[in-house]
Amino acid sequence: MTNDPLWKKCAEFHGHECPGLTIGYKASLLAAKLLGTGFSHDERLVCISENDACGIDAISVLLGCSLGKGNLLFHMTGKQAFSFYDRESSRSFRLVLKPFGPFASKADAFEYYHSLTPEEMFDVKETSIKLPQKAAVFQNIVCPVCGESFAEGFAKITGGRALCPDCAHTFSRFNA
Ligand SMILES: [Zn+2]
Ligand SMILES: [Zn+2]
Repeated sequence: MTNDPLWKKCAEFHGHECPGLTIGYKASLLAAKLLGTGFSHDERLVCISENDACGIDAISVLLGCSLGKGNLLFHMTGKQAFSFYDRESSRSFRLVLKPFGPFASKADAFEYYHSLTPEEMFDVKETSIKLPQKAAVFQNIVCPVCGESFAEGFAKITGGRALCPDCAHTFSRFNA
């Protein structure tokens, strides 16, 4: 299993082999199987992850759900749970890691997770979060305080001016 070229690709991107990456790898394999899709070159596939741990790197590598494309989103609960949405078929589901362990060591967890099939690892549930809109495209504006360009969606109207978040923060701290 650890000789799978897809696994090698994940480990190469992530930098090391670990139990967390294995969870994301298996979730990706199961998601691809259930949706009948592979790597998403656009925003067709969306993942909402409930953690920001190692596993999301495997999801980026295998399914193309990445921070940069805006189709990897977070709903932080600290759970090893991932909701997947296919914009084309409108299908969705939430994969939740079954409660395994505790393990004596990371190596034990790694071995164990790799010995399981994706189906054995996750409960497949219905999604509870509505599919978000496609990634917003903002105009860039220049902050009148620091002179740096930033996406207007981040503007904080402070003292009647549209400031960048950092300058708005400084402004409100000195004027509190
Ligand atoms: Zn890791
Ligand atoms: Zn600024």
